[in-house]
Amino acid sequence: MMEFKATIGGKPAAVGSDFAVLNPATGEEVGRAPNMGGAELDAAVAVAKAAFATWSVQSDEALQAACAAVTAKIEEHAAELAEIITLEQGKPLNGLGSRWEIGGAVAWAGYTTGLSIPVKVLQDNEQGRIELTRKPLGVVGSITPWNFPVMIAVWHILPALRTGNTVVVKPSPYTPLSTLRLVEIMNEVLPPGVVNVVTGDDKAFNLGGAMSAHPDIRKMVFTGSCATGQKVMQSAAETMKRLTLELGGNDAGIVLPDADPQAIAEGLFWGAFINNGQTCAAMKRLYVHDSIHDAVCDALVAYAKAIPVGNGMEETSILGPIQNRMQFDKVSRLVADAKGRGKVLLGGVPGEGLFFPPTIVAGLRNGDALVDEEQFGPALPIIRYSDVEEAIRLANDSPNGLGGSIWSSDIAAAKKVASRLACGSVWINKHGAIQPNAPFGGVKASGIGVEFAEEGLAEYTDIQVVFA
Ligand code: NAD
Repeated sequence: MMEFKATIGGKPAAVGSDFAVLNPATGEEVGRAPNMGGAELDAAVAVAKAAFATWSVQSDEALQAACAAVTAKIEEHAAELAEIITLEQGKPLNGLGSRWEIGGAVAWAGYTTGLSIPVKVLQDNEQGRIELTRKPLGVVGSITPWNFPVMIAVWHILPALRTGNTVVVKPSPYTPLSTLRLVEIMNEVLPPGVVNVVTGDDKAFNLGGAMSAHPDIRKMVFTGSCATGQKVMQSAAETMKRLTLELGGNDAGIVLPDADPQAIAEGLFWGAFINNGQTCAAMKRLYVHDSIHDAVCDALVAYAKAIPVGNGMEETSILGPIQNRMQFDKVSRLVADAKGRGKVLLGGVPGEGLFFPPTIVAGLRNGDALVDEEQFGPALPIIRYSDVEEAIRLANDSPNGLGGSIWSSDIAAAKKVASRLACGSVWINKHGAIQPNAPFGGVKASGIGVEFAEEGLAEYTDIQVVFA
């Protein structure tokens, strides 16, 4: 049983009650997390605000050194953090699972540590010198989802620290344990109050809503669903908070007629099924040209059949269970509906507990729920098309615009089609491959702002222009 305290002001906070965290692979309780309310949130924000006074005025070199120390700490505890993720989130230790997630977190932390935003000289002549500088904001509130609990927390926390802000982070009630431990570890090398954590079960008290409305939080960085993102934006309006919203996606992939089905099968599979499809920028709809439709389906099904699904603590498992009951029920409902409309090529029958096999359904169209809704699970609808213009129109026919991909043997032709997709990231012959040196964010309902690279770092600052 894992029981971690919430670190506030560098110390474990005393909290009266707690809530259970379940292992999705077994349904058993694996740990308990503090069930915090408004008083604990106020305390966390107050210490973060006090810490900001000294943290924010350090030299750039000192901030960089502190972030390097945090990165080293995460790396030192990589094995432990990976195990906590697997136990509470369900993803396997192995494959593109929890060890991979921690590897990503370390890579992102390291890269962000090395970033800086130089002062920009806008004018320097006899009329005077004008410099564009960047100022930290204050206390940053971070709210994270349950799909990549440590990596996304690192995506929020490190750029905030690097630019001189302090942080209060709130993980999802489904996966609070790895964040509680992550913050404990970070506090071994940070001054008290710089990074604090609050957790709650979202039942009696809306902790995320209270954070979004808190008068002493200057910015919210939120990763989660579109519906909750809208609530965060509404709550944040009153206090004019800065916002970065990384929301849901319903990414399309388009296979052009000249693609090689065998060569793209592995990329298509992982583009759609990474983390069991519980990934914002996973491929959630696949448009395949008539001429190679059957060959692509056959190659994809053959690849998918060989992937072992099981308890993530076993080294042989490459995919785990769905993370929670609500998500499982949603995927089950959408797959059941799709069965009556298309042809199930693989899977389709829910397994034991929260296990659901990789599912591929052909013969679907835009308008079918499995195509239109962000199902966020291990199910891929395949839609046949005969004209590329039609495929582009169908791919863009979505309120979301996070990512998209084009699959082809002709990169130049693929790039032309790629430029027509209304989304923040577009990949050729791969899907969802994000990097710390490339800004990432959604258009349309998929969010506001970007994370990563200098553009992402800038979102943790206000501009100040100095006229001399
Ligand atoms: P969610 O919106 O249900 O929850 C996200 C977080 O918001 C949780 O911590 C939750 O406790 C909190 N929350 C709940 N109600 C709130 C409120 N009223 N105000 C503020 N916070 C509140 O999302 P989820 O189910 O945890 O995650 C899945 C979603 O996240 C999917 O839609 C997925 O696409 C999206 N996502 C997006 C990205 C991205 O970078 N764009 C990355 C990962 C996940």
